Amino acid sequence: MEFRLTILGSASALPFSDRNPSAQALSVHGRLFLIDCGEGTQQRIRQEHLSFVKIEAVFISHIHGDHVFGLFGLLSTMSLYHRTAPLHVFGPQNLGPVLKFYLSYFGQELGFEIVFHPLTFKVPTAIVLPTAKLQTGIPSETAATLGKNLRVTAFPLNHKIDCYGYRFDEVVTPRRNPWKPRSYAYVSDTAPFPELASYVAGVDLLYHEATYPASLKDKAEQYFHSTSLQAAECAREAGVGRLLIGHYSSRINDIAALGEECRSVFANSSTVEDGDVFEIEYIREQ
Ligand SMILES: [Zn+2]
Ligand SMILES: [Zn+2]
Repeated sequence: MEFRLTILGSASALPFSDRNPSAQALSVHGRLFLIDCGEGTQQRIRQEHLSFVKIEAVFISHIHGDHVFGLFGLLSTMSLYHRTAPLHVFGPQNLGPVLKFYLSYFGQELGFEIVFHPLTFKVPTAIVLPTAKLQTGIPSETAATLGKNLRVTAFPLNHKIDCYGYRFDEVVTPRRNPWKPRSYAYVSDTAPFPELASYVAGVDLLYHEATYPASLKDKAEQYFHSTSLQAAECAREAGVGRLLIGHYSSRINDIAALGEECRSVFANSSTVEDGDVFEIEYIREQ
């Protein structure tokens, strides 16, 4: 049963010929989820031979263009592929009016429903729960029943505008799935803040933005971003299995050096490139 992360884009605001803005695909037990959707995401989905119609939900971190400009073209393409199943879109509340504007001009052509779930929480909150858990009455007003074998938690970040990270925890039933549950967390644009490590504590794989090298800490602070060292410090404090960094500033020429900085704090750190695929494995003893 796969639990697989595909990096569709690893750049920050400026796209390059070999590096697209933020987007990732997460395959969980045959289903597909999209995390952020920068410009060019649909071409990247094609290049990775992923299915437009299989995508069940899109998790948007915030409405900076490098995380959301790709969504509108993608919706049209899904329609061209005769999608009829509803698409769940999670994101901060201010994504609502943007979607509404888009739909007011282009919505008539869409052959499927967009179910928008606005996030307004100030603390980590489960937004997708396994169906079985919902039936047993775990309270959640917002949780959508998308979560066969999956729990998704949204948590607030510290960026210039409302921004959320997402944590994906595999839920297994020991009889049917005799392996230890795996987990992944996506930390989008954020300046460091004390609670963050607790939000991603113990995940097997953590993706954390590292827009700047340690030497540009003041720039990171100014724009509410993190440096490589700050990402690694979060990984160490959270006790994660493995750290991936991305969302590199266009000022950075030496991405390998960013990885070295991370490894000086947290050994199991890697930089990502567009097209990298990670099979998420249970690493950590919980
Ligand atoms: Zn960004
Ligand atoms: Zn941003």
